[in-house]
Amino acid sequence: MLQQVNGHSSGSDAQGGGSLRKDLQKFLSGEAPLHQLDDLTKVNPVTLETVLRCLQARYAADTFYTNAGCTLVALNPFKPIPQLYSTALMREYHAAPQPQKLKPHIFTVGEQTYRNVKSLIEPVNQSIIVSGESGAGKTWTSRCLMKFYAVVAASPTSWESHKIAERIEQRILNSNPVMEAFGNACTLRNNNSSRFGKFIQLQLNRAQQMTGAAVQTYLLEKTRVACQASSERNFHIFYQICKGASTDERLQWHLPEGAAFSWLPNPERTLEEDCFEVTREAMLHLGIDNPTQNNIFQVLAGLLHLGNIRFADSEDEAQPCQLMGDAKCSIRTSASLLQLPEDPLLETLQIRTIRAGRQQQVFRKPCSRAECDTRRDCLAKLVYARLFDWLVSVINSSICADPDSWTTFIGLLDVYGFESFPNNSLEQLCINYANEKLQQHFVAHYLKAQQEEYTVEGLEWSFVNYQDNQTCLDLIEGSPISICSLINEDPVPPELNRLLQQSWDPLLKVLFPTDPEEQPSGQSRAPVLTVVSKFKASLEQLLQVLHSTTPHYIRCIKPNSQGQAHIFLQEQVLSQLEACGLVETIHISAAGFPIRISHQNFVERYELLRRLRARTSSGPHSPSPDERHSEGSPCTEAATLQPLLQDILHTLPALSQAAATL
Ligand code: ATP
Ligand code: MG
Repeated sequence: MLQQVNGHSSGSDAQGGGSLRKDLQKFLSGEAPLHQLDDLTKVNPVTLETVLRCLQARYAADTFYTNAGCTLVALNPFKPIPQLYSTALMREYHAAPQPQKLKPHIFTVGEQTYRNVKSLIEPVNQSIIVSGESGAGKTWTSRCLMKFYAVVAASPTSWESHKIAERIEQRILNSNPVMEAFGNACTLRNNNSSRFGKFIQLQLNRAQQMTGAAVQTYLLEKTRVACQASSERNFHIFYQICKGASTDERLQWHLPEGAAFSWLPNPERTLEEDCFEVTREAMLHLGIDNPTQNNIFQVLAGLLHLGNIRFADSEDEAQPCQLMGDAKCSIRTSASLLQLPEDPLLETLQIRTIRAGRQQQVFRKPCSRAECDTRRDCLAKLVYARLFDWLVSVINSSICADPDSWTTFIGLLDVYGFESFPNNSLEQLCINYANEKLQQHFVAHYLKAQQEEYTVEGLEWSFVNYQDNQTCLDLIEGSPISICSLINEDPVPPELNRLLQQSWDPLLKVLFPTDPEEQPSGQSRAPVLTVVSKFKASLEQLLQVLHSTTPHYIRCIKPNSQGQAHIFLQEQVLSQLEACGLVETIHISAAGFPIRISHQNFVERYELLRRLRARTSSGPHSPSPDERHSEGSPCTEAATLQPLLQDILHTLPALSQAAATL
């Protein structure tokens, strides 16, 4: 059932419509400056141009958040504004009877989701989908939201539980610097670009306290370990080690001051993220002790030395390529840091082994120089990707709550933003595919489903056209033939895995456990999942989770590509507004029904009001046996009614009008 209360266009006073109309009149008569319109549904007419002008005016007035119906638009200020994210402000939004009446902010979304999970009837898990192109502010936003929940969802009573809660919140927050150190890098678009997707579930108990969290990551761009586009960098952690290691550690990890590593381009650029101490401290909080940390950094130093190995072309195809220049020294150092036998390491890079025939005979074929380079890169990618996944599992074991200690969750989704470089790898395809998939979720959930529902309900509605990206998705993932079904990745040579299983390094032993038993020859092996098929499956899973929640959307917009404050480039913003279908969203929000509630839920929720109304209008009466049974003492009744009425007041003000007519 859709309540016939149109908050944005009917002018209903219960919805604040009277004041909306006044705002609009002021705007149209030129009285209200554009920057004061804090909801884009009030812009008239709603066109790309007017929306753009309004956002620009707000940006110029240092106002970075604007409502757009069901979405919050977040402009990246590209400058620190501590007061905008202070604990005091978090508390203000948390304490407000109607946070949506305060200025638009990510804390409004945070508070709304927090209140929704404790809905009196059937608590529903919530999710916040933060989207936007690379550098738009998604990670920043989700970090701030995590801090918000750490503040508002932590109010245990006893001192002991307070200590526990503090530990868990701190640990959850500490997962950010660690994951960013290992999974973020400086790119052309963003100095702290996420090179993996992240969905974090903040787990809440019945008392609305955060008892833990679980992180799910999506496809790390591991190619970056061995290959960085010009002007880009490797993952932050490599620079952190090289800049922050102590003299002793430098000796131990063979990282002399000023050493040049080919996989470490642009080390001279100083970034805020190059802070080794912060990462180490956070790792410690997550239970990764100093010896384990040293082990991790030693392995990473081993990879840096691996990257300095160079091969010369072989004149005789039957002979393996020889090492060039200092490469002998690099391979020795790398082998020692990775705790691998030196000769097998070199041989694995130089020679391919092929098993063929019924007897699985082994043939050895020397690789070309290019193949040697690929195998070297592949080895590093394999180690780094396993290390990253292992770190995520350690983080999860440190922050995850017991399954029976939480009942609901708020999910925060922060994936890598859309990007396009002069040369794009398979990973860029996956990144952009993820973004298309999420846009499709929004299209299906909001733009499509809502309008279809109006038609089914027989409501008067003129259809708003929107850009459906289904055809684009079909091209990537559809069946029987699509990009996904056609592409396969360059597979990891099994020799590399076997080599790493020979390491006597404690960490590598964990990352590359020996196979319980070699597969007997002739026995069919399980099909090998390609990167794309794994990624596709993990995205499907993510969407299923999102579908089971009430979604909230934050659209981050990047006002310029230079990453500078006070610059609003219309062309660049315009293309982002178009890509996310913002104008269509505003149209539907402005003309649509803001409150949707099923008939069943409505009756369950407001039945009490009907009885209350019947009683007040007919005066005191003796309750029927049924009522006596269900109503209990007046005191219990008041206790039941109070939160219910509060709920009605702050979540659904328009319904009080509708409920009165029942
Ligand atoms: P990617 O997809 O590449 O990971 P992203 O959308 O996650 O990009 P962020 O890393 O969150 O982008 O933001 C890029 C930079 O913009 C930040 O490092 C920070 O300098 C700045 N920034 C973003 N949001 C804000 C904000 N609200 N206040 C101040 N600075 C911000
Ligand atoms: Mg990011």
